[in-house]
Amino acid sequence: MKKTDVVIIGAGPVGLFAVHQLGIKGLKAVVIDNLDKAGGQCIELYPDKPIYDIPSVPECTGEELTKNLLEQIKPFKTEFFYNERVDEIKQDKDNWIVKTSNNNEFTAPSILIAGGVGSFEPRKLSNKDTGRYEGKSIFYAVKNKEEFKNKNISIFGGGDSALDWALELSKFSKITLIHRRNEFRGAPHTLSEIKKLENEGKISIKTPCQLESLEGVKNLESILIKFDDGKTEKIKTDTILSFFGLVMKLGPIAEWGLNMNKKTIEVNSENFETNKKGIFAAGDICSYPGKLKLILSGFHEVALASVECFKRARPNEKYRFEFTTSSKSIQDRLGKK
Ligand SMILES: Cc1cc2nc3c(=O)[nH]c(=O)nc-3n(C[C@H](O)[C@H](O)[C@H](O)COP(=O)(O)OP(=O)(O)OC[C@H]3O[C@@H](n4cnc5c(N)ncnc54)[C@H](O)[C@@H]3O)c2cc1C
Repeated sequence: MKKTDVVIIGAGPVGLFAVHQLGIKGLKAVVIDNLDKAGGQCIELYPDKPIYDIPSVPECTGEELTKNLLEQIKPFKTEFFYNERVDEIKQDKDNWIVKTSNNNEFTAPSILIAGGVGSFEPRKLSNKDTGRYEGKSIFYAVKNKEEFKNKNISIFGGGDSALDWALELSKFSKITLIHRRNEFRGAPHTLSEIKKLENEGKISIKTPCQLESLEGVKNLESILIKFDDGKTEKIKTDTILSFFGLVMKLGPIAEWGLNMNKKTIEVNSENFETNKKGIFAAGDICSYPGKLKLILSGFHEVALASVECFKRARPNEKYRFEFTTSSKSIQDRLGKK
């Protein structure tokens, strides 16, 4: 079990800035996100779109904002746990225990939920029988590409993830790229690389078709795909990778006994604490009178929540308000001379 001062759920812009606000107060945090990277909606939904209302930044994209937030928190050497969903929380006297889908456990006096509109989760294949192969032969993300070596892999999808992984994994596995349309949405230069490999017989492309059924006694052995004209084809497959995009699910957060208002968590806007002592919520997931779902509001919210987290983590110390421009201890924590 890992011990820390605050467990932050969500590595969106608000979770990232929370690391900063806790860090300058001398508090350690861990950040857990179901996605494979930081940035939340900014990176998943609009990485290239310009944002015009971040104070003192006239214009930046979702990706640039994320990059800068990560740069700003570098001095705190925070541990991030990606590809993990927080499933369970339970109280242990004055502390909280947080359990993730990867069976990691954390304990801390405070939890800060910066879960946005819920966890981003893969849209799954809907055929019957897919369930029994999930996690063994069917995957929705590549966590460690070493595990995908020397396989017969069928990749489903037409976007960048499907194309990028088809290209990458073709270096050491046999790839069949399957899409329900003839046109791919991914980057044209990746597609032309893939077409080149197809001509050399190194990748096989099947369109327009969909997964019809799966075969295999214990492990997956082959799949049957069905083309739009009704024809079918059996493909030797021991691994399926499916990239049909992401859906947002509030998921387990709704079951933690917190006061909910539609799909948001009610907080006290003095310190952003929920109805449970030591559990805070900020960013898009919290609600209070006058709440605006803006990044800048989330930044303000974590600044206030971090003060209360300090009091819980250091009950014997007095919290002192300080400016970053003049505080020696903040500057030390930021590694400034
Ligand atoms: C198209 C678009 C344009 C926008 N433009 C602007 C703009 O110009 N200006 C502006 O201020 N705002 C804008 N917004 C809104 C802004 O993106 C959100 O206010 C902001 O992303 C909220 O940040 P957050 O950190 O609270 O949540 P999110 O960005 O949603 O991040 C939450 C993270 O928590 C993770 N998570 C949730 N539950 C769990 C769990 N149980 N376990 C693990 N991880 C979990 C999710 O996977 C996600 O990564 C825009 C939004 C969209 C969709």
